[in-house]
Amino acid sequence: MYGKGKFCPQGQSGDCLTLGDLSKILASSRDYDELKQAWVGWRTTSKPMREKFVRFVELANEGAGEFGFRDLGDLWKTRYDMPPDEFEKELNRLWEQVRPLYEQLHCYTRTQLAKKYGSDKVPTGKPIPAHLLGNMWSQDFANIFDLLAPEEKSAFDVTGILREKKIDERGVVRQAEAFFVSLGLDPLPDTFWERSMFTKPRDREVVCHASAWDIDWLDDLRIKMCIEINAEDFTTVHHELGHNYYQRAYKHQSALFADSANDGFHEALGDTIALSVTPAYFVKIGYLDKLPADSLNPLMQRALDKIAFLPFGLLVDQWRFDVFSGRVTPDQYNAHWWKLRTKYQGVAPPIARSEKDFDPGAKYHVAANVPYTRYFLATILQFQLHRALCEVAGHEGPLHTCSIYNNKEAGKRLNDMMEMGLSKPWPDALEALTGQRQMDATAIIDYFQPLLDWLKEQNKDAVCGW
Ligand SMILES: [Zn+2]
Repeated sequence: MYGKGKFCPQGQSGDCLTLGDLSKILASSRDYDELKQAWVGWRTTSKPMREKFVRFVELANEGAGEFGFRDLGDLWKTRYDMPPDEFEKELNRLWEQVRPLYEQLHCYTRTQLAKKYGSDKVPTGKPIPAHLLGNMWSQDFANIFDLLAPEEKSAFDVTGILREKKIDERGVVRQAEAFFVSLGLDPLPDTFWERSMFTKPRDREVVCHASAWDIDWLDDLRIKMCIEINAEDFTTVHHELGHNYYQRAYKHQSALFADSANDGFHEALGDTIALSVTPAYFVKIGYLDKLPADSLNPLMQRALDKIAFLPFGLLVDQWRFDVFSGRVTPDQYNAHWWKLRTKYQGVAPPIARSEKDFDPGAKYHVAANVPYTRYFLATILQFQLHRALCEVAGHEGPLHTCSIYNNKEAGKRLNDMMEMGLSKPWPDALEALTGQRQMDATAIIDYFQPLLDWLKEQNKDAVCGW
C-alpha cells in the first residue's frame, strides 16, 4: 500500500503523483497552497491503512505475548541490554541533552519562514506548519536551506558539484565505496555491482525507500535505491554502504551475533563516514579546486539534516510504544500522533486532521513496521563515533572540519568494532571505539557549537518555543 501509494489531484488516473513526485514539490515549491495540496495529498494514501493497522497491532502483540513480552513495544525495547523502563529513561536523557539545540534551530527557522510566508501563516509562539519545511514528514529541513543559509552564497554546494562533474548514479556509489577503501577496507564484490538496484526501474513498481541487504549473510551484498544526483542521496549512499560494510565485517560471527552492537550502531555507521564528507575532502578527491571561504553554511546544512531530525527520530516510536502498550486506543491514533508531533517537533498540520485520517501510516517505517528509535540513537551515536575516530586520526581544530578520509588507523578501529557484531553487549563495542560506555550527546553539541552560538545571537530578540 505504501509503495503503490499515489495521489491524483483531479481524482482521475493519468496525472497521479507518487511519493517521489510529491516529495519534489515539498522540496522545491515555495507556494503555500501547492505545498499544502502535496502534503495533504500524500496523506490520502494512508487512510485505508488505518483499519488494517488496528488489526495488525492486535496480532503483533499476540505474537510478542507468546514470546513472553508485555507487548511489541517492550520486545523492541529489550534489544538494548537494559530493562525496557530504563531504556525509556535513557532516551529521555539523550533528548534532554539535545533539546536546547533543536529549540534554537526551530526558533530561527520559524522567524525565516514568517519572513517568507507572512506571520499570519507562520505565527510567533506557535508550531510551524508542517508542510513548509521541505520534507514530507518535516523530519529534516535540508531542502529549505536557501531560506535559512547564514551567508548568501552557498559555500559548499554538493548537489551543484556532483552535477557539474557529471557524476552518474553508479559514480556516486563508486565514490562512497572509495571512501571505505581509503580506510583500509576491501572493495565491494563484483556481485554488488551486478545485483544492486541503483535507479528507478521503468517497467515495474518498486519501493524506492533506500535499503541495504546481505542476501546470503556472506558476500552477496546489495543496495536497493532510486538514486537522484543530489546532496541528500550522496549522503544516503554512504549510509547504505555503511550497512553493507558492517554486514561483511561480522559475517564470521555465529548467526545469533551476526548483527550490529545495537540497531542504532547499524544506522550510525555509514552516517559517521558521511560526516567526513567535508569541503577539504572534496578538495582531496578533486571535486573542488580549492577550499571555499570559511562559512557557517556547511554546518547549517548539516544541522538541517541532523538536528532537525532528532525530535522526529524520537517520536515515531514514542507513538508506537503508546499504541502497542494500549495506553492509546484506536480512537485516538491520529490525535496522539499530532500531540507528539507538536510536543517534540513543534509542527502542526496545515489543515485539521481527524480520526478518519491515519497520518502515521504515511511514513514508511510505520507502514512497514520497521522500528525507528534506532535512527534517533544513530544520530547521536554517529557524532560520538566521529569524535573518537577524529581523535584517533589526530585531527586538530573544530570537530566539523574533520575528515578521516585515508586514515588507516581510524579505519582499523572502526572495523575492529564492526567485527565484534552483536557478540558483546553494546557498551563494550562502544567502549572499544570511543572509550565510553554510555551513549553521549555532548559530541553532537561540540560539533554544532559554532552554529549554536550564531543561532542564539540571531534569536536574541525572538520569542522562542511553542
Ligand atoms: Zn539504514
